[in-house]
Order: sequence, then structure tokens, then C-alpha cells
Amino acid sequence: MIIFRHAADLRIYLQEIRFQHPVIGFVPTMGALHQGHISLIDRSKKSSNFTVSSIFINPTQFNDQQDFIKYPVTLDKDIAQLEIAGCDVLFLPQISDIYPNGTAALEQYALGRLEKLLEGHHRPGHFQGVCQVVNRLLDAVQPDILFLGQKDYQQCMVIAKMLELTGKQVALQKAPTLRETDGLAMSSRNMRLDPVARKNATAIYHALQFIQSGIQAGQTAPLIQSATEQLISAGFDNVDYVSIADADTLEPIEVWDGVTPCVALIAAFIGGVRLIDNISLYP
Ligand code: AMP
Repeated sequence: MIIFRHAADLRIYLQEIRFQHPVIGFVPTMGALHQGHISLIDRSKKSSNFTVSSIFINPTQFNDQQDFIKYPVTLDKDIAQLEIAGCDVLFLPQISDIYPNGTAALEQYALGRLEKLLEGHHRPGHFQGVCQVVNRLLDAVQPDILFLGQKDYQQCMVIAKMLELTGKQVALQKAPTLRETDGLAMSSRNMRLDPVARKNATAIYHALQFIQSGIQAGQTAPLIQSATEQLISAGFDNVDYVSIADADTLEPIEVWDGVTPCVALIAAFIGGVRLIDNISLYP
């Protein structure tokens, strides 16, 4: 695996590579890698001829400065995992590569309702930051396929919208969420959980399964209420949202018709760590 630290060097290298390996797959990450990330590398290796990954902890997507400061960094381990997975190139950009003019006055993306709902509502500015970094990374790598995890359901929708707004010709492949054996969605932030919080954190998946098995046509509020209570009694300190939402728009569904594809999404804090997860509720 070759490591690049400057976008200009990466671009020159990939120009050459494209002649031999016409389909380039790209897996952007913030590091502290786990098997969920590696599953995206595996997918890229199957669907493309050349796999590029990046590690960049993007300051503009953190609305909470403490979350940014405490974001886990395990670069040596990450490099070893990517080597083993067969990643071809790792891009470790400098902040000046991603934000050559600083981060003060960045262009805004017209994301519409998507950035007002759920994560957008609870993390103001987060999705603008995500679009900034992904757009710049795509400019540097110019991949044919972009691999994203459905663990970040709303992020997948936001990036699809950003691709539409910018007219970028890149295919999006969404990969299912990888879970620990007890059901907790793999996440870099899980490293910050103490043993008790780690054990209790599985309640987030149980609450999603509870909604999945209990949903039927009619009012959704009672299910949402019970799922929220389950999280609190399992030791979650604060629940940002439990939502049953339209799978295509993420608008909340108050009365389900029994046929519209929907998704249950949760964001909640345990032991000072904010976790998110979701499950599809296709009839
Ligand atoms: P992150 O490093 O958290 O920004 O994540 C980088 C990519 O990995 C994103 O596309 C995430 O959606 C994806 N990802 C994170 N956790 C998982 C998981 N448990 N299973 C599958 N993909 C994941």
C-alpha cells in the first residue's frame, strides 16, 4: 500500500494508475478503523480494480469541539489493517489540502430538508462539513465508485444529494452495517465506552429490533415512546431522537400506512458518548 500525504502527488499517481486499473473504488474514513470499515474495503476490492482509502478527521463536521478533541486516533493500527485488507493507496491529507483557503467562509450546499431533520437538527452544520470534505476528497481521488456505510443512513442520503448538486459522475455503493456479536453497531466511538456503558449500549440495537418486530399500520408514537423508555432504563443518559421515518425522505411518520418503506433511527448518549444506529422497516 502506498501512502500519500498531498493531494497533488496522489492525483499524478492516480492519473497513471487509471490506464491499467480503469475502475477506482474509494472508501473515505476518519480512522480508528474496525471491521465495518474493512467491509467497505472488501466491497471495493470486489467491485473495482484499484482501492483508495483516506483517513482524515474533518474538523468542520464536528459541531461539538469535545467530540473532535476526543475522537480516537490509531493510525499505526489503521495502516496495518488496511495493508492486510489489500487496500492499494491510503490518502492522509493535510488540512491545507482539504481547506486551502481555511474553514471560515465555505460554500454552502443546498441540502434542503435533509439537513433540518434528525442528525441535521441535532448537529447543526455537521452535514455541510461532511459535504465539504467528501467533495474535496472526490476531487483528489476521482473514483468511479464511492463506498459508504448504511450505519450513517442520513449521511448516505446527504452525499447522494451533494453528488447531484455538484454533478459528480461517481456511483454510490451503500454497504450494510456490521455489528459486534451482541448486536452493537461497530463504531470508532465504541472505543470510548467504559465496560459498563459498552455492555448497556446494546440496548440501542434491541430498541431498533423492538420497533422492527412491533411496527404495524397506525400510530407510531407508542412504539417510539416504549423504545425511548427502554434506552433510558438500560442506562442511556440522553436520547436525541427515536424516529420512524420515510426511508426516502426521512420525514417522520406519525401514522404508518403499512406499506411505505420506512426506517427506524436512534441517536442517544451513553457514558458521555453519542451513538447512532438504524434499521430498515420494509414491509
Ligand atoms: P467514519 O470513519 O465513521 O467516518 O466511517 C467511514 C465509513 O465507514 C462511512 O461510510 C461509515 O458509514 C462506514 N461505517 C462506519 N461504521 C460502519 C459499520 N459498523 N458497518 C459498515 N460501515 C460502517
